[in-house]
Amino acid sequence: MNDRRTVFKTLRDLGIRLTPQRILILDILRKGNAHMGVEEVHAKARTRFPYIDIATVYRTLHLMKKIDVVTEVAIGERLHFELTHPDRKHHHMVCTCCGKAFNLAPEYLERFGEQIHRDFSFEPDVRNFTIKGKCSLCADKFEKSDSIL
Ligand SMILES: [Zn+2]
Ligand SMILES: [Zn+2]
Repeated sequence: MNDRRTVFKTLRDLGIRLTPQRILILDILRKGNAHMGVEEVHAKARTRFPYIDIATVYRTLHLMKKIDVVTEVAIGERLHFELTHPDRKHHHMVCTCCGKAFNLAPEYLERFGEQIHRDFSFEPDVRNFTIKGKCSLCADKFEKSDSIL
């Protein structure tokens, strides 16, 4: 993971001020579970800065995205954010029942991409590829409710 010092240095090098709000939002993303929605980040930020509005959170996240400190992930209809992991790039599997996102190591899609390329001479862009489905927890729940009926 991009550690705190590296992130702060990136910001400073780009001349972006390290305001307390910006530091807080980055810390929330770093400590929280990956893939947080704007509302979730906002709710957490408000415990420290009760008057911070969601527009500020949005703007900060977008600024961080522009400089590649934060990655934006579409999970269902909603956008989620996580700190960019320079050496831990991953894709996402998203559960359509509970909305949770799980990380998928890049090898899976690299292999898939190579096969597509071999068979069709087509170079797929899988960078923002998200696989939708049902997570094991939700699958379990469905099985149990089936057996009751
Ligand atoms: Zn699920
Ligand atoms: Zn992720």
